[in-house]
Amino acid sequence: ARGRVVVVGGGFGGATAARVLHRAGLAVTLVEPAETYLACPFSNEVIAGLRPLSAQAFGYEGVRASGVTLARTSAEAVDGATRQVRLADGTTLDYDRLILSPGIALRFDALSGYDAAAAGVMPHAWKAGAQTELLARQLAAMPEGGTVVLSVPGNPYRCPPGPYERASLIAWFLKTRKPRAKLIVLDAKDTFSKQKLFESAWKALYPGTLEYVPLASGGQVTAVDPGEMSVATDFETYKADVACIIPPQRAAPIAAQAGVADRSGWCPVDPVTFESRLMPRIHVVGDAAIAGAMPKSAFAANAQAKVCAEAVIDLLAERTPSAPKLINTCYSLVAPGYGISVAGVYHPDKGVLADIEGAGGTSPVDAPDSVRRQEAAYAEDWYRTITAAVFG
Ligand code: FAD
Repeated sequence: ARGRVVVVGGGFGGATAARVLHRAGLAVTLVEPAETYLACPFSNEVIAGLRPLSAQAFGYEGVRASGVTLARTSAEAVDGATRQVRLADGTTLDYDRLILSPGIALRFDALSGYDAAAAGVMPHAWKAGAQTELLARQLAAMPEGGTVVLSVPGNPYRCPPGPYERASLIAWFLKTRKPRAKLIVLDAKDTFSKQKLFESAWKALYPGTLEYVPLASGGQVTAVDPGEMSVATDFETYKADVACIIPPQRAAPIAAQAGVADRSGWCPVDPVTFESRLMPRIHVVGDAAIAGAMPKSAFAANAQAKVCAEAVIDLLAERTPSAPKLINTCYSLVAPGYGISVAGVYHPDKGVLADIEGAGGTSPVDAPDSVRRQEAAYAEDWYRTITAAVFG
């Protein structure tokens, strides 16, 4: 196949797409400023002191050795008319097709009092790295009998079950290390991923430690005050010793700059090719994309990147891409050795990626410990497998 493809973002989506394109013989440049990628899946375990941050770090040696050309800088501007990407190092790349997988930006304009400086006091830890370590340190240093407040945003956001896995593992940490401490989870919604499984596990494992406040009970956080260490809803102000605030999100800034983000802040795409609905020849995959019923997960970003890369290969060869089927599985740990999962299968239907009914499902609500242990092991295997496929 012929044609120049540029991929922006070397995370689960972008690194995958670059490797598939290179394997097909296309000239592909992957633009990523970081020397080391820090993966979010399993970073909740880092927060609970169950694994080091180094277990989340992946270099790009494997990607480079596979033959992909890496530009170790960031994309600053995209010109969809001239089909060029301007990089921070001053160079410009021409493309026939551009794939963006830039991930998310935290919205520091959405929650009163929560800006970038506040995140240094009340970490979001929704991008793995310094924020993850800050929250882990704060929890470890918290006085016995202290209060942790965790604020969860409304949909859509990166990793739908992630906040509830985090709540579970923080509760596990408190129960085992600071048994008189409490965790209050304030949620801007009433229903969430794997809810029955989480709630029955919380009842069994963390009564008296974890208190969950849904929207209907006044759980929506409306303002925070990092100086006072307080978190306010319309009904109550909570004093926290440690506050983890996960704010609303949008696609990373390059998406809006390229003209592929709509007013929601996310990127509408065609469900067969992941080509932008707003800009021809620019494709968007991963968290930044509006992918219908598919959640914003690493599993989904990887699956979408494969489908998108195959479509780009077809389009450059002037073939019509065929309709894909995509899979997602999200594992969560409720405690060490206690895993639960949700799986889905998706296909393009009436212009969007729709859930194929009956094809997915969650772990059984009533299951013996052996099943939970097995799923925790599957989660580990999944992480090892996907990170080896993307970065190995
Ligand atoms: P990212 O992985 O964020 O990659 C984006 C990359 O683009 C980054 O490396 C960034 O540096 C780069 N970039 C951004 N802008 C530019 C630019 N202008 N120029 C060049 N490069 C740029 N998913 C699962 O499937 N399973 C899990 O168990 C799971 N657990 C999670 C737990 C937590 C606590 C969190 C926060 C997330 C979790 N996720 C999980 C979700 C997963 O991390 C994301 O869905 C996934 O990383 C999305 O991949 P992406 O390629 O879209 O973005």
